[in-house]
Amino acid sequence: MYPVSAKHLPRLVAAALCIAAPVRAEDFLCPGGTVLVQGGGERAEDICEAAAEARAQLASCNLPVTQAVTVEVTLGLSGGCYGLYHCDDDLIQLLPLSAYSGFLSGHPDSPFGHLDPEAFFNSVLRHELAHAALDVMPCPYDGCPATQEFVAYAMQIRFLSEAERAPFDRFATETGGPVTSDSLNVLVLMMSPETFLRNAHAYLSQQEDPCGLISEIVEGDVLFDIPFR
Ligand SMILES: [Zn+2]
Repeated sequence: MYPVSAKHLPRLVAAALCIAAPVRAEDFLCPGGTVLVQGGGERAEDICEAAAEARAQLASCNLPVTQAVTVEVTLGLSGGCYGLYHCDDDLIQLLPLSAYSGFLSGHPDSPFGHLDPEAFFNSVLRHELAHAALDVMPCPYDGCPATQEFVAYAMQIRFLSEAERAPFDRFATETGGPVTSDSLNVLVLMMSPETFLRNAHAYLSQQEDPCGLISEIVEGDVLFDIPFR
């Protein structure tokens, strides 16, 4: 199975699968004081900059991260996870840059295989920050993974550079017609995350007012999840 699949598991399961160990103990408080980096080592300031940029990007699309978050760089994301957000602790866990580098060189055909490691790292950080921003999203069920992952993947891809986003844009225009919200269900998410994330970008980019849709999701007016039977 595609090695990022575990990050799509419901949060509690994913958290149980992915017990992390800090790389280094020192903490680094980013300028502004809303992001604390743990285990970032010499990349701590780069991570601060990436987090600040990602927060601004998300806010520009009606998805502000209103709480302080901790970004922990760990070696312990097992089960194929490459990023996790723990809502109870406002904690984002990411792997060291070298791990993303290894993933990309080992999976050149993955949807993100054309990115350089830092662009990929930053996109995963943006994905997890989107989950943090979605803490306020009403969910009438035990979890709303399809809606959560729709927003997180769409934001991960939307704010790549134009060149980095090109393969996703090509899919959106060459897919043979509008992508429907039916294709953004939890079954597709679990069985083929690559398909889901491409659909997510295509669906959002095909909207007349993409960031308006994000607003509606945050308000709970649009939901892609249905009750489990
Ligand atoms: Zn996610």
